[in-house]
Amino acid sequence: MAGYDQTLEPFLWRAEKLYPDREIVSRTHEGITRSTYAEYGDQVRRLANALEDAGIETGDRVATFCWNHDRHFETYFAVPSMGAQLHTINPLLPAEHVQYIVENAADRIVFVDPSLAEKLAATYDEAAFESVEKFVVVGSEVPDVELPDAVDYDSFVAGHATEYEWPELDQEASAGMCYTSGTTGKPKGVEYTQQMLWSHTMAMLTPQGLGIEDSDVVMPVVPMFHVNAWGMPYATTAAGAKHVYPGPAPEPADLAQLIEEEGVTITAGVPTVWLGLLEYLQENTVDLSSLETIVIGGAAAPRSVIERFDELGVEVLHAWGMTETSPVGTVAHIKADLQDAPAEVRHEKRSKQGLVAPGLEFKVVDDEGNDVAWDDDAAQDFGELLIRGPWVTDSYFERPDADEDSFDGSWLRTGDVVTVDDDGYVKIVDRTKDVIKSGGEWISSQELENAVMAHDAVAEAAVIGVPHERYQERPVGIVVMAADATISKDELESELVESIREEYPKWWAPDAFVYVEEIPKTATGKFSKKDLREEFGDRSLVEGEAPPDRE
Ligand code: AMP
Repeated sequence: MAGYDQTLEPFLWRAEKLYPDREIVSRTHEGITRSTYAEYGDQVRRLANALEDAGIETGDRVATFCWNHDRHFETYFAVPSMGAQLHTINPLLPAEHVQYIVENAADRIVFVDPSLAEKLAATYDEAAFESVEKFVVVGSEVPDVELPDAVDYDSFVAGHATEYEWPELDQEASAGMCYTSGTTGKPKGVEYTQQMLWSHTMAMLTPQGLGIEDSDVVMPVVPMFHVNAWGMPYATTAAGAKHVYPGPAPEPADLAQLIEEEGVTITAGVPTVWLGLLEYLQENTVDLSSLETIVIGGAAAPRSVIERFDELGVEVLHAWGMTETSPVGTVAHIKADLQDAPAEVRHEKRSKQGLVAPGLEFKVVDDEGNDVAWDDDAAQDFGELLIRGPWVTDSYFERPDADEDSFDGSWLRTGDVVTVDDDGYVKIVDRTKDVIKSGGEWISSQELENAVMAHDAVAEAAVIGVPHERYQERPVGIVVMAADATISKDELESELVESIREEYPKWWAPDAFVYVEEIPKTATGKFSKKDLREEFGDRSLVEGEAPPDRE
């Protein structure tokens, strides 16, 4: 129908009508809560009435500071469908970032979990929170913390009607907002329109996306404060599938229990969650027979994790995305013509970040903006990934300075450095700011780190580019030796150089290795290359020519 806007509310309408008895299950500290789509629809409309009564109008921002649970999910439909904007805040951010984003977004109401209320109270700053008129603590009472104008959720919604006349919304209306958890500088706000979330949802439903169906039981472990839990709550509703929310800070034992007892078929999260579950499975017997798919993203899925779950009969779907892309951009499905390829080939494809989702376009460009070839053989043919499409943002919220660096016409510059093989599988090899530019060619710091860390005598390693007169930059390895290593540093270095030269072009081998007690880490646990560059970016480490055998 020409002119019919693509909005979220029809997904809820359909789920309620077609699947009134399908469940929404939530783990809480007190136990499991259950509701149905029929009940959920009423709760969503009741919440919309409460928000309207509290003065929330079209375009206002309502924030959440919450884990994954049914009440958080109520805000997912109530806030955008009444024409307001749902701003999910990451409670793990440092206090000054939370203050900055609440002030920047001018949130009017903040929903907060009881277990996070103390943290939010410690973050509270009168000036930064000036726009906030009310804190709604998700529970039946307000804990004893210093949050002004706090009310408990049950009282907030009590007495409100379960009928609500949803407004007719423009598909360009803002529906959501999430800040990127940048490691440097201020967080940048990304706004999601109704149409962005709608189109992302539709893509996730296709077999090329996540292929969620009404028979599925979907458990997003990825936090609901991180890019709408990768859009899973919306796609699950659109499919009419059962939701399972793992609640506050779930441990592997909690996840295992929910999988077993609720019959979870699809779940999703970052690699560390699944490493934790695999460890738990070594000591405990868990019935995983319902589980078909684990979506892994946010960081590279280790191949060993993919293979281990294969042995357990669970398929890992490796996916890539960003806050700016709502978030899913690529998914590593095996193409039909590769289904019969040798297991080794299929494993290699599945450990890449995958095939672009239908609806999006991408290109890969080098330093000069030239297209980089899609090529199996040239492992060093890589460049920056640029992406565009219906669910990719075209700007940051009130940040023209950041827009200049991050957008190139209609393309989003992802800051990810990738290769693309003949079959179109994208593989991330670095971040643009970490890639080492040597003699006009790029060297992947991540590939080198993996190669160095593969050595038994190495506990941790990072590789950075150090300025070099002739070659612009040369790689230097920063190494923490394993506590039980018996090998000398000289022997280790020659073994590392030899193994790197076997696998990569000769000139990729680091010119020098520096030994440290510990690699500095960022707040999110990643190696802080910025700190390393400050400490070791001294050109004396790679003075003169590169050693002849490394040129
Ligand atoms: P965020 O916006 O916080 O979700 O972070 C997005 C960034 O995470 C991307 O630009 C990538 O650098 C990284 N990322 C996301 N998914 C993957 C993946 N599957 N493998 C490697 N890096 C990833």
